[in-house]
Amino acid sequence: MKITVVGSGYVGLVSGTCFAHLGNDVVMVDSDDKKIQTLKKGGVPIYESGLKELLKKNRSRMQWTTSIKEGVRHGDIIFIAVPTPPREDGSADLSFVENVASQIAKFMDEYKLVVDKSTVPVETGEWVKTTITRNLSRRIPFDVASNPEFLREGSAVNDFLHPDRVVVGVETERAEKLLMQLYKPLKAPIVVTDIKSAELIKHASNSFLATKISFINAVACICEKVGADVRLVAKGMGLDKRIGMAFLNAGAGYGGSCFPKDIDAFYWIAKKIGYDFHLLREVKNINEHQKTDIVKKLEDALWILKDKVIGVLGLSFKPNTDDMRLAPSIEIIEALCKKGATIRAYDPQAMQKAKEIMPDITYCKDTYDTLKGCDCLLLMTEWDEFRKIDFSRIKKIMKQLIVIDARNMFEPDKLKKSGFIYKGVGR
Ligand code: NAD
Repeated sequence: MKITVVGSGYVGLVSGTCFAHLGNDVVMVDSDDKKIQTLKKGGVPIYESGLKELLKKNRSRMQWTTSIKEGVRHGDIIFIAVPTPPREDGSADLSFVENVASQIAKFMDEYKLVVDKSTVPVETGEWVKTTITRNLSRRIPFDVASNPEFLREGSAVNDFLHPDRVVVGVETERAEKLLMQLYKPLKAPIVVTDIKSAELIKHASNSFLATKISFINAVACICEKVGADVRLVAKGMGLDKRIGMAFLNAGAGYGGSCFPKDIDAFYWIAKKIGYDFHLLREVKNINEHQKTDIVKKLEDALWILKDKVIGVLGLSFKPNTDDMRLAPSIEIIEALCKKGATIRAYDPQAMQKAKEIMPDITYCKDTYDTLKGCDCLLLMTEWDEFRKIDFSRIKKIMKQLIVIDARNMFEPDKLKKSGFIYKGVGR
C-alpha cells in the first residue's frame, strides 16, 4: 500500500519503518530538514533498539522529504505523527496537528484516508475533519480515522510489530477496510471503534498505567514508615492476574514525553466537558512527591548537600532510550544543584540530549569514572549495564559509601553487608 507518515520522530519513524518492513511503499515527511538529511544519508536521528537495522533493510521501500506536497500526493493513507505538547494550562497544543491537516487539504487531489496517530484529546478527529473540509479548494472525498499508538520507547520496534492490540477508530467502511488491510499482517487483535472511543482509549490507557505507578509509589511510602518491602508487596499483588505485575515498580516516578502530558491533557479535556477527574490530579501529586522524596533521601543521608559530590547513574526517563523529555533526573539534579551539590553523571545513551538541557554538570565516560571521589551514588535509570556494577571496585573510588537507589535496582542486603549505606524506595 502507499503510505505517508507526517512527522518522523519516535512514533512516526518507527511506524513508517515498520510499515515498509510489512511491504508497503512509504514516504516519510518531516519539517526538520536536518532530520531528513540525516535519514537520507542513512543515519538515524534517535536511538531505538533495532531501528537502525530495520531502516537499513527496508530503505528501498522508503523515501524522505520535507515536502508535505510530495507526501500528500504519494499516500493513499496519510498518518499524522506530529507532537502534541502540553500548553501551560495542561491542555494539549494541537497546533501541529491543525497545521498538518490544513496542509494535507491544500495538496489533496484524490481520495485520502487521513489517520491521526498522535495522542490527542477526544473530539480532535472532528476538528481534523472540519479543518480539511474548510481548506479544500474543491470537493474531494476523504476520511479521517484515529489510530492511537501504544509503542514504548526502548522497545518501540518490537511493540509496533507485535502489539497487544491495534485500535482503529473509523467512520466509514472504506476507512475500516484500508486500515484492516494495512494491519492484517501483524496478526494482532484489531479493535474497531468510532473515532471518539479510539481517542479515549489512548488517554484512558496511559492514565490508567500512570495511576498504577502512583498507586505503588503511595504504597511504598507506607512501606517505608512501617519497615515493609514494597517490592515484596508488589510481587504479592501483581501475581494476582486481575492486577498484573507490570507498572508496579516503586521509584522516582514516571516521566517521558507521554505520561505527564497525557494525564494533564486528559484531566483538562475532562474538565472542559464538565467532569472533574480528581483521581488524575492525585496521580500527578504523588508523582511529584516521589521526586522531592529522592532529594530528601539524599539530605537524610548526607546532611548538608553543599559541596557534596553526587554521582548520578542514568539520566534518560527510562532504560533503553536516549529520550530525556521530562525525565525525573532533570528535576532532581536541578534541585540538588540549587542546594550546592556537584553533579557527575553518566548515561549509556542520553548524554548528548542531557547536555542540551543540563549543560553545567560534569558528564563522565562510564560508571567508574563518574563515581571517582563521590559522596553518594544516585541511581536514576535502571539500565542493564548498572546491574553488573562491581561494588568492590566502587568501594575503592568513592569518598563515602552511600547509595540512593531511585529505581530499587540493587540488592540492599548485599550492599549493606559490604559496608554501603543503602536507601531505596519503599524498602
Ligand atoms: P517527536 O517529537 O519525536 O516527533 C515529532 C516529529 O514531527 C518531529 O520530528 C517534528 O520535526 C515533526 N513535525 C512537527 N511539525 C511538523 C509538520 N508540520 N510537518 C512535518 N513534521 C512535523 O514526537 P513523538 O514522540 O514521535 O510523538 C508524536 C506523537 O505521538 C505525540 O502526540 C505523542 O504523544 C504520541 N506518542 C508518542 C509515543 C512515544 O513513546 N514517544 C508513544 C505513543 C504516542
